[in-house]
Amino acid sequence: MALRLYNTLSLQVEPFAPADGKTVRMYSCGPTVYNYAHIGNLRTFTFNDTLRRWLRYRGFALQHVMNITDVEDKIIRKSMELGVPMEEYTRKYEQYFLEDMSSMRLEKPEQIVRATEHIREMVDLISALSEKGFTYESDGSVYYRISKFPSYGKLSHNDFSGIQAGARVDNDEYDKDDARDFVLWKQRKGAEPCCEAPFGAGLPGWHIECSAMAMKYLGDTLDIHTGGVDLAFPHHENEIAQSEAATGKPFSRFWLHCEHLHVDMQKMSKSLGNIFTLRELVEMGHAPEALRFVLMSVPYRKKLNFTLDSLKAAQSSIERLRNYKLRLETDRLSAGTNAAVSALGKTALQKFEEAMDDDLNTAEALAAIFEYLRETNTLLDQGAFLDGNRPEALHLLSQFDKVFDVLTPTTVEGALDDSLVEALIAERTAAKKSKQFARADEIRNQLLDAGIVLEDTKDGVRWKRK
Ligand code: AMP
Ligand code: ZN
Repeated sequence: MALRLYNTLSLQVEPFAPADGKTVRMYSCGPTVYNYAHIGNLRTFTFNDTLRRWLRYRGFALQHVMNITDVEDKIIRKSMELGVPMEEYTRKYEQYFLEDMSSMRLEKPEQIVRATEHIREMVDLISALSEKGFTYESDGSVYYRISKFPSYGKLSHNDFSGIQAGARVDNDEYDKDDARDFVLWKQRKGAEPCCEAPFGAGLPGWHIECSAMAMKYLGDTLDIHTGGVDLAFPHHENEIAQSEAATGKPFSRFWLHCEHLHVDMQKMSKSLGNIFTLRELVEMGHAPEALRFVLMSVPYRKKLNFTLDSLKAAQSSIERLRNYKLRLETDRLSAGTNAAVSALGKTALQKFEEAMDDDLNTAEALAAIFEYLRETNTLLDQGAFLDGNRPEALHLLSQFDKVFDVLTPTTVEGALDDSLVEALIAERTAAKKSKQFARADEIRNQLLDAGIVLEDTKDGVRWKRK
């Protein structure tokens, strides 16, 4: 069976192929760069990565665009509070975000585009909407008249027929019950940074940015639009209203939403003090790929309950996979090929692919791989796994790792591997014996710089990483 994806628009799992048969034109709402991304944000971006990788696994090319929201209410407020230019403030967090993406092994979309560099496209889109009568001005700001767009609510499946025409909302974010005319262009307030536009000095609203950038790079109709589940309403509903009113065409064929991550069964919030960033977890000694594994192990449409224990469990699952691979590469095996083992490999690959084709069921896909590991580890112990079975098992692992990407350990920059540490310690011991104390101290300092602490005991030298 071919790839099927759940479409929020139809509330159905539907067969998926790009409109042109080859290249998937996909847009993902990117980060708002006013702070470090938390692991909830990273869940959604890891979902984007899983989707990208699976589409490529299935032979499609990608034209994937992600925006960086570098102008928005919170950004304006925070940068003004700190008295730093908005650009200086946002670039720092954008850079941190890109570093986190790379630590998490998230593939970069083909284009990453900043809102502040597309103001002209946003202004043009607002002008086009104005010409068609979808906007009105009030107190110097421009609003979208949602009563002119009868299918408003079709993505979030809300019935907005009874809404009060003309009620407005100026914030970029608002609640479900708050379906009101939303702001497209905000009149400049006080000393806020601003841009010039035919409708006066001001700044664009958040929703217009994604419509303008998605259509600029991907055309009027996208194949897939993604984001976290909280974005379906109002953000994506508003994107549809803006884009479809302007073009008269469907804005996106598929809408995919990633469920939220919770921590210890609770919503992440500042007051509960349970917001984790990748950097905090790494400082606690966890590898980024352990977080990647946790985030991928739960299918994207299910709520994910994050705990520190789940990170530890993920690390040991990763170790099992790595040890198995090492065993495949190094065990001495008898010649020949066992057909029964080959059959297990074929079944595992088939189950893995079917699970991923089924709306990216990563939990089932992992189960297929671990079942194969269990079975073949026993066969290796029994000598029934033969030399000729090696390549097929390694092939299965490499197919798995095209998507999960956890088999290669993260190397810390400048880190020394264990054998080099042992060799330096041996050299230091020899130097001390021959009374070359300067050289011995030099080695101790070199190790210290690399985070290795030495302890001289009566049984010899013990060492650990700081
Ligand atoms: P933001 O930087 O706030 O614009 O959010 C970036 C992405 O993270 C958006 O797609 C959000 O929907 C998503 N997101 C926010 N909180 C969570 C969460 N707890 N779990 C999963 N995704 C989230
Ligand atoms: Zn967006």
